[in-house]
Formats: sequence, structure tokens, C-alpha cells
Amino acid sequence: MRFKSTRDSGSHQGILYRDAIFQGLAPDGGLYLPTGKADLSAVFASLSRDVSFLEAATKVTAALLGEEMDDASAERVCRKAFSFEPELKPLKDNLYILELFHGPSCAFKDFGASFLAASMEEVLRKEHKKAVILTATSGDTGSAVARAFYGKDNLDVVILYPSGRVSPLQEKQLTTVGGNVRALEVRGSFDDCQRMVKEAFLDRDLNEALTLTSANSINLGRLIPQSFYYIWAWARLREEHADLRFCVPSGNFGNLSAGLLARFWGLPVPGFLAATNANDVVPAYLKTGEFQPRPSLQTLSNAMDVGNPSNFERMLSLFDGDLEAMRGVIAEAVVSDDETLQTIRKVKEEEGYLLDPHTAVAYLASRRYQEQSGGPVPMAALSTAHPGKFVEVVQEALGQAPPLPPQLRALLPLEKRSTLIGNSLEDLRRALI
Ligand SMILES: *Cc1c(COP(=O)(O)O)cnc(C)c1O
Repeated sequence: MRFKSTRDSGSHQGILYRDAIFQGLAPDGGLYLPTGKADLSAVFASLSRDVSFLEAATKVTAALLGEEMDDASAERVCRKAFSFEPELKPLKDNLYILELFHGPSCAFKDFGASFLAASMEEVLRKEHKKAVILTATSGDTGSAVARAFYGKDNLDVVILYPSGRVSPLQEKQLTTVGGNVRALEVRGSFDDCQRMVKEAFLDRDLNEALTLTSANSINLGRLIPQSFYYIWAWARLREEHADLRFCVPSGNFGNLSAGLLARFWGLPVPGFLAATNANDVVPAYLKTGEFQPRPSLQTLSNAMDVGNPSNFERMLSLFDGDLEAMRGVIAEAVVSDDETLQTIRKVKEEEGYLLDPHTAVAYLASRRYQEQSGGPVPMAALSTAHPGKFVEVVQEALGQAPPLPPQLRALLPLEKRSTLIGNSLEDLRRALI
């Protein structure tokens, strides 16, 4: 499979995965997608209902990237990437929670970050090169990236985060990894961090001294592995539920785009449900046909507080800009903060299951969809984070704090190690060289 930019309408061959992952964004400012339609339906059909996640991931990787990764290489990358697995938890009335938070940072972003890290390591190992991953974070992405790249040969990681503006637990996650991962605590805002990273990528001297690359969420190497858990969940449930739908709590819509890719490769999923909080730019587009980005609103499901979703361009491109086609596959739902709190409370009381605020959005959207469909149509709601990551929100909903997952509990006694710097490119340059 080859890849080309969403903004490239030419019909050339496209570039290799290995080149696309080191570029991140395409040179024309677009996002990478497969050049044509691959048909993986035979691979999907070959997955048994007790297939492990690792086996499913390895088969799909080999099928997708066979041109540049032989079977041994695909297996090595997946083995390194996935030391953790998703889990499916059945609730009542054909609703399943697809738990994606069993990785090192307790959020679904671990799947994408780990696979990207393992792929980059595989490429650099063969070429005997070194690279520096430079990334700005407001919390979640940084911790997944830090853990994914920890201990990788040939790769150093530098994370910029705004001083005093990430939660204490998030700061622990960013600053206690050590080894090849450095945390720079910037006297400024998240926007300052992002600007400094952008400036660094444009700075000729810096780029001559170091091979700088990014690991942000639009990277193709993070998108592709996010398709694997849709495929795995489908294989697990297809005997009972041939018509399983997925509900995806969305912010930048990378997760949903990955599900769409799986469907374009032949996964027989009748449809998806895109669930957002008050940042409902995509649901509004599906309703009105008008895409109107706007500044983001702060909500309780804050990893979904995105006012201009970067993957919308990918979604449009996958449907060739055809709104009706998109409406045929993606339904939408919007969930308020009050509803999120009520849902966390109600589901804990009635079903004995503890939801994080993002999963609560997906849960309520799924139940509404079932109601509108006139019956308990089978649905899998993607659970994107462990409730223990959102102590304050769960506390507000239930009156008591959630248990911390062991991965996070282990961080509490560790000492923060970061370098405090100013918010100019010059400050960053001094820290890098
Ligand atoms: C990043 C994130 C999301 C949103 O995922 P997108 O791919 O940006 O739509 C949802 N929930 C959690 C917990 C996240 O960290």
C-alpha cells in the first residue's frame, strides 16, 4: 500500500509508509491516506473469534504494509508495540464497552503512539540513523508518546508542556519517564509550546544539527494501528452480532477516521456513531452540511475539546467530499456535561460499571441510538480512557474518587524531573543543543 496527501489529486504512485511517518504532515499541508482502496476482506474473514489482538494486528500490518515490511518485520513491530490489549466488556442490551485503556498511559492513544514508535525504530535500525521526536502537549498525548518511545534505540524524545497548566498526575506522567525522554517545562501556554515546536521545525540551523520529527496525532503511523481494535472487536463478536456498530467519542476524529479506514478495507460494519461533547462541529456538519470551525469550549471530557478537528479533512477525503455518502455511514450525537455526570452516576448504580467522562459520552450516545432504532441494536462503545485518569470529574459525579490504575499509582512516589525554560525558540534551541 502507498500513501498520498488529502490535498493531492494527482494519480501518481504515492509514497511509502516509512517516509510518511517521518514527515507527519504532507509537504502540501495535507494528511496522508492510502492512495487507493485495498481489499482486506479475506484477511478479516480469516480471523477466528478467539484471535488475540497481537495476532490480528500482525496479520493486518503484514497485509497493509507488505511492500516494505516482510512478515517477520511486521511481527517484530507489533510485538514491540503491543504489550497490552484491548478488552471487551458486555453491558446489558447488546452494548459492549471496548476498553482501550490498558496501555502504559491508560488511554487509547497508547495504541497509536506505540505502533508509531516501533515502526520508527524498525526503520532507523536498518538505516543506522538517529532522530529526535519533538512534541508539544497539553497532557494526554505527551504521556502516551513519552511511554511509547521510552528506551527506543536511535530515538530521543523532547516534550514541551506549559508550566502549571497540566494536572499534577499528568505532570508526573510526563516528567518521570527518564532515559531518552526529556520534559521541558515552558513558562507559557500550550499555544506557546506549539508555536515553539513549529518554529523549531522551520529553523534551518536546528534541522542541520538534528533530525527533528514529530509524533502528533495526525501522523499516519498513529492512525493505522487505531484500525486494529475495530477489526479485533468485530472478529470477536461477529458470530453473535453480524451488524455491530461502533460509537466513537471524538475530538480530532483520528479514532473515527481509523474505523472508517477499516470499513473501506472491507470490514463489514454497517455504520459508526460519532459522539461529541459541546464541541459539536462535525455533528453540526452532518446535520447542516456546513463545516464551521470555532474556538474550543471547555468541558468535562476535555480530551475532546476540539473546535477545529484536524482529521475532518481525512473524513471528507475518504468520502470524496460526498455529504450524503458520509451521512449513510456516520450518525451523530452530542452529549452535555450534565448528561455526562448523570451517565457516570447512573451506569455505576444500575450496571455496576465505572465510566470515565469520555466513555460516558459514548455510552449515552449509544443508548440513544438504540432507542431511536427501536431496539437494542448491537453496539460497541469505544472506551478511550481509564476513569482513574479523571479523578475530579468522577468525584463530582459519584461523591467518591475512582481507584487509580496501577500504572498511575506507580508514579506517585517518583520525583518530577523537568527543565524549566522560557517561551522563545532561542530557549528551546539552548535546551536541545
Ligand atoms: C484524544 C482523546 C479522545 C479523542 O480522540 P480523537 O481521535 O482526537 O477523536 C477521546 N478520549 C480521550 C480520553 C482522548 O485522550
